[in-house]
Amino acid sequence: MRCLVIKSIAVAFLLLSRPAISQGEAALDQTSDEAPIAIVIHGGAGTISRDSMTAEREREIRGILEKAIRAGYEVLERNGAAIDAVTATITILEDAPQFNAGRGAVLTSESRVEMDASIMTGHDLGAGAIAGVRGVRHPILAARAVLEHSPHVLLAGNGAEAFAREQRLEFMPESWFHTEFRLKQLRRIKAREAAKTESVASDHSPDDEWFSTVGTVALDRAGNLAAGTSTGGTANKRFGRIGDSPIIGAGTYADNRSCAVSATGHGEYFIRHVVAYNICARMLHAGETLAQSADAVVNGILAEEGGDGGVIALDAQGNIATPFNTPGMYRATIDREGNLEVKIYGDE
Ligand code: ASP
Repeated sequence: MRCLVIKSIAVAFLLLSRPAISQGEAALDQTSDEAPIAIVIHGGAGTISRDSMTAEREREIRGILEKAIRAGYEVLERNGAAIDAVTATITILEDAPQFNAGRGAVLTSESRVEMDASIMTGHDLGAGAIAGVRGVRHPILAARAVLEHSPHVLLAGNGAEAFAREQRLEFMPESWFHTEFRLKQLRRIKAREAAKTESVASDHSPDDEWFSTVGTVALDRAGNLAAGTSTGGTANKRFGRIGDSPIIGAGTYADNRSCAVSATGHGEYFIRHVVAYNICARMLHAGETLAQSADAVVNGILAEEGGDGGVIALDAQGNIATPFNTPGMYRATIDREGNLEVKIYGDE
């Protein structure tokens, strides 16, 4: 009897003294080497045409997409968690100045960088997001910290930055985020605005419709899905404007029972049509396949309304859909057979 009591106390002590486990570890209780893994990333949708692309830029972009997706796939191959694959890819894309996330993010009308990001895990509907933050090198890690180390889902502005500092995330000076490309883009938009030669109601005038937000959806060997999205928003946005990317259900969603989605495009439309959740809900409640549901939302609902953009989507069986209603979308996939594809244009 005495022995039993001592044993119980020892077990209770061990349980209590266990370090807090991350979402990734918690999700990976059961894995099987037979189970499918897959990953899809995007680097934004928009007016991406062969005419507007130099060979050098195209090579750079394809190279970074490949590097990022391979990093995420390696995590999955090592039986890592889907959420770890999401952060492994997005941190690479956030550091790449070619994309509108982290370094190289678009500028607000006041020439500042204000970033949004979100992340979600499909086994428990865990979600974390940050909006309107400045200086955080990897906004996706701040979103993940909200998920794993706070009781909240979405933190914004100063509060989100203070939280990121508490979490000891890396900060960079404002100048580190700025690129010549984004500065010229802002000048062009402002010049058009001043000349009033075009409608300026939209922030996206023809050759500036390069959303280039980044996102990832991943499926790990435990059968768990995760999704993440990171962005600087839209060029010339009003300070304080928040798009769909940090809004769970609009720009990002993951539910093991249906699918994982990361969106890119004109955020105001994606918020109104709750795009990411809408795609998952149609599968769950209307019995649509991933391909049917993603196509109906992107090429049906959004296209009819004039909501430009696209999504990447992945279900728990490893099916992939990447519909977009713009001329192009930067994207890469590694499917359940391990095939890698990197694509940019609509006709690829
Ligand atoms: N969806 C983002 C936003 O509206 C922009 C993008 O996808 O590039 O903030």
